[in-house]
Amino acid sequence: MDDCVFCMIADGKIPAQKVYEDEKVIAFKDLSPQAPVHVLIIPKKHIQSVAKLQSEDKDLVSHIFVDVAPKLAKDLGVDDGGFRLVINTGEDGGQTVNHLHVHLLGGRKMTWPPG
Ligand code: AMP
Ligand code: ZN
Repeated sequence: MDDCVFCMIADGKIPAQKVYEDEKVIAFKDLSPQAPVHVLIIPKKHIQSVAKLQSEDKDLVSHIFVDVAPKLAKDLGVDDGGFRLVINTGEDGGQTVNHLHVHLLGGRKMTWPPG
C-alpha cells in the first residue's frame, strides 16, 4: 500500500526506531509513547485491521502473540512487572493507522477501563 505509513516503515522508506525485525514482522517505538515502554508490532504484509484477517493469516497472528510479543516484553524488561497488548480496531475502536498493529505498553501501572 503506497499511502500506508506502516508499510513505508516496513519497507524502510520512512525511519522508525526499530526494536525487532524478522521476515514477517517489525516492531518499533511509538512516536507518541503512552508509557515508558510503548512499541508497535506490525506484520510487514498490509492487513487493514483485525476485522480483515483471513484464515491464511493464522500463522502470522500466532507468531506475533506466541513468539514476538513475549520476547519483546522480556527484552524491554517488562515481562515480570507486566504489560498490556492493545489492538484498536476500526473507528470506534480508536484505530488511527489502518495497518494492523499491536501496541505493547509497559513500565507503569495500567488503569482500567481504557478511555
Ligand atoms: P492506533 O490509534 O491504535 O491506530 O495507533 C496508531 C499509533 O501509531 C499511535 O500510537 C501513533 O502514535 C503511532 N504512530 C503513527 N505514526 C507513527 C510513526 N511514523 N512512527 C511510530 N509511531 C507512529
Ligand atoms: Zn500498510
